[in-house]
Amino acid sequence: MGGLDLVLVLRYRKAVTYGFHVLLGALEEHKTTTRFDVRFGDTPESTAQHIETALAEGARVLVLWSFYSPDAAGLAQELAEIRKLADGPGVRHVAGGVHATAEPVQTLDAGWDVAAVGEGETILLRLVDAAGAYAQVPGLVYRDETGAVVRTGRPQRRPLDDFRGFSLRWDRFNALEITRGCVYACRFCQTPFMFSAKFRHRGIANVRWHVDRMRERGLRDVRFITPTALSYGSQTEEPNLAAVEELLASCREGIGPDGRVFFGSFPSEIRPEHVSRAALRLVRRYCANTNIIVGAQSGSDGVLDAAKRGHGVEEVRRAVRLGVAEGFGINVDMIFGMPGEDRRDVDASLRLARELAELGARIHAHTFMPLPGTPWRDAPPGDVDPATIREVDRLSQRGALYGHWQKQRDHAARLAAAAQAYPRPGRSRTILPTVPVTDAGGR
Ligand code: SF4
Repeated sequence: MGGLDLVLVLRYRKAVTYGFHVLLGALEEHKTTTRFDVRFGDTPESTAQHIETALAEGARVLVLWSFYSPDAAGLAQELAEIRKLADGPGVRHVAGGVHATAEPVQTLDAGWDVAAVGEGETILLRLVDAAGAYAQVPGLVYRDETGAVVRTGRPQRRPLDDFRGFSLRWDRFNALEITRGCVYACRFCQTPFMFSAKFRHRGIANVRWHVDRMRERGLRDVRFITPTALSYGSQTEEPNLAAVEELLASCREGIGPDGRVFFGSFPSEIRPEHVSRAALRLVRRYCANTNIIVGAQSGSDGVLDAAKRGHGVEEVRRAVRLGVAEGFGINVDMIFGMPGEDRRDVDASLRLARELAELGARIHAHTFMPLPGTPWRDAPPGDVDPATIREVDRLSQRGALYGHWQKQRDHAARLAAAAQAYPRPGRSRTILPTVPVTDAGGR
């Protein structure tokens, strides 16, 4: 295709398709004078191929990346390989997502040209309008020709209803984001930092519009992305079951008799204190899932307090018993190796895991990772002793998960080392108001 001003090459990896789909959803409705095209780089080689083709067409090229903190180091190597295969003065690699938002200077030092700090939709639309000339686009961090770090200020944060949650034009669908941001402040979690400490909900009419489009395309399963499923429609820590029922009833009707609605199961979860008979009956009435995911995180009240989880161990027990009594399979998320956790805390978590497994719950265990942007960024990496791993593996009923534990432990160690290497976010020359770290949204 000739005569293009700009080609957007997405480094399109399975793990991050959702983040790209919402960007495409925003892009497909955007009116701009820039002549642009979007291409999907499914592998490093095809990404390089797209770059080469776009350069031959005389277009400016933005390669868009999105990744989570544990993947940052591996992708930096991939970036270097792609640069060896295809590069030029008109090519810029732009990193977005939670890691780039939390650690923009680390991201630049790892090889990306630009870090997008904040919610991706508005940043991308402005980048397209500017035909890829990013110097004045809010929400970016880059180095100028003297090597000084430049921050272009805070991007606009808009209601979820302003943008589509998936892409019709590029035919890319995913679980629909119904809530962004979180009023809780769990110290290990990047969500409140990334998307603000408030809930922004997609309106029911807007959700229904998406469900109707899915049905037209022959899609059957409606799933949701939300930090805490039963917070839908609420601005506080209390669930709003009337709003949840209205949402589920509308989706159920919209997707039709052959469709299925999933709520409180993958890829979202329910906070334990929100589990009630009334809530579970709503799920049973409108939804197809026979299991729910409950975030427990620890069996020690001391660790839960330190993590500022906002619930105790008793709420977890209660939630699992209620769920089982209502006929649901229960998946319980737990994190081992959190800061300050001692032997007694580990034993308490193992006791809880055993007790819940006996009730029929399945335990999904993780190793604590000190994630950028969180209050525990500078905490030591999580470590879990082999006996604990063996015991949790047994309870998880999924066979040996040593690889999984080892991988998370390696990620945790690498993140802790990076946090030490970058003790404070880089101070820099600012051309527009600086993004306050606690108020930086993003994707
Ligand atoms: S762990 Fe869940 S409830 Fe806690 S801050 Fe993160 S998204 Fe919110």
